[in-house]
Amino acid sequence: MKKPVIPQRLIAISILLVSICLSMFVLYTPKPAAEEQKFSSTRALTYIEEISKESHSVFAADEHENVRQYIKDTLTGYLGADHVSEYNYPISAFPTETGEVRNILGVIPGKSETAIMLVGHYDSVDGSYGAADDGYALGTMLEIADLYKNQELENTIYFLITDAEEMGLDGAAAFAANEHELLSKVGFVINIEARGVSGAAFMFETSQNNKKVIDFYRQARFPVTYSLATAIYQVMPNDTDFTIFREAGKNGLNFAAIEGIDHYHTPLDNYSEISSSTLQHYGEQIVPLVDAFVSDSKYSDVHYFDADQESVFFTLFTNVFVSYSETTAKVLHIAVFLLLIAVTVVMLQKRLAQFRKTIGNLLIFLGTFILSVLLSVGFALLIAKIGNVPYNFTYVVVRGSGWATLLFLLALASLVYAIYARCANSLEKQRTFLFLGISLQLLLAVTILPGMSFLFFVPALLGTLSLAASLQSNMIIKHLAYGATTLLSILLIVPILHTFFMALTVGCTPILVAIMLIHLTVLIPVFRLHVITFPQKSIAPQSE
Ligand SMILES: [Zn+2]
Repeated sequence: MKKPVIPQRLIAISILLVSICLSMFVLYTPKPAAEEQKFSSTRALTYIEEISKESHSVFAADEHENVRQYIKDTLTGYLGADHVSEYNYPISAFPTETGEVRNILGVIPGKSETAIMLVGHYDSVDGSYGAADDGYALGTMLEIADLYKNQELENTIYFLITDAEEMGLDGAAAFAANEHELLSKVGFVINIEARGVSGAAFMFETSQNNKKVIDFYRQARFPVTYSLATAIYQVMPNDTDFTIFREAGKNGLNFAAIEGIDHYHTPLDNYSEISSSTLQHYGEQIVPLVDAFVSDSKYSDVHYFDADQESVFFTLFTNVFVSYSETTAKVLHIAVFLLLIAVTVVMLQKRLAQFRKTIGNLLIFLGTFILSVLLSVGFALLIAKIGNVPYNFTYVVVRGSGWATLLFLLALASLVYAIYARCANSLEKQRTFLFLGISLQLLLAVTILPGMSFLFFVPALLGTLSLAASLQSNMIIKHLAYGATTLLSILLIVPILHTFFMALTVGCTPILVAIMLIHLTVLIPVFRLHVITFPQKSIAPQSE
């Protein structure tokens, strides 16, 4: 039977190319909204323009005070003097003239005293204009204050504008240490931060045991988040006001834009560099959450968000957000494991795999993996040398390093593909390699932190379905399984690699390479199954 070789290849390659193009839209940020919209970045920008006129660190007494006064006046204009208060605390050896940290709290009271608390800081670092850090927070909060003023609310909204975050979270820490009464009424915290100036506003951190927090976050428009980030952030020394409230036992979320990390804490963090689309993205996510909280009496229970487990979650595409509990994750892992065993039994019975013959090739492959990671260390060191900056695993900012890293990753992926194509030169070997790739990823999924498990579980699931599809003869089922694996793996992995690069710079290339190569252990065999028609037993030049 002669198979239509070209159409099959064409389908496989088209799906690959379309997947890569689509993956560019996963981290989409919404268009800036005009003034008549519910959250208008156009309006929110006017506050930021005012706030970011001068650098306003705690060391610049006048500018710092001007910004504080501007925020207090604007908030008072919306909420009334009765609902805006100062929470000032003396700090010994504090560099300001007053020797105090000065926080501002605005309140829109609801029927219940239980509150959702929005938090942002008004100090910048020396030299930075603080347009993004933390102008994005201030613009978003003032716009929300304007939107919800004079409304009949079920629950209360707090706007906490903190001082001296950049000094070491001093304002938030003093507030939490002294205002137990106020804090006891807070049911949910949304902290707004910025580490870059553009791109998506990531929801990058949650409180612990975030099951109900994530169920709540599902209401955000254009959610962009990975439980991977929260898992990593939990084991890193972290440094935003959110830490203070999380440690005080509060539930909530933390948002930050991360693209353009070279602007962070420099004069480049200024009004002309920020993005109205990014600002709109903060609003599109946060407003629906505030809206839900203030309009449903079930959130009046201050412990509503307490839960006993974590969620696993990720953004798969624009407005497509996947989340499931830790328990569900375990059930899914077991289900795929059982399915893989069933498929393996069939392969062994029908002699459709070649485990023994593959061992030699496997060693070559393992060598390629180790060599690639070593090469990537060399690459990152080289870029740091060319840019004349010290090498740091999480911070090497060099102009053009994004393109260099992209080319480096593409070159490595092509090399691995070429070696693979030589090693796996029969249909049986493709299946064997796929089986090994799935097993590796499933093993990683069950052993790693729950929040990171999806990164390996999704390819394991898709790979197992593709392996099962390869054992039957219906071409449509094969196309569907192989095509879905290519599409969904790429939609998952490309934005994650991009995000890692944005957050940690070219310094973290070895991590990017390791994640990419592990991911390719399923993607390449499935793509080969799709792209190659095996008319008889073997297609390779040196077939056995
Ligand atoms: Zn900040």
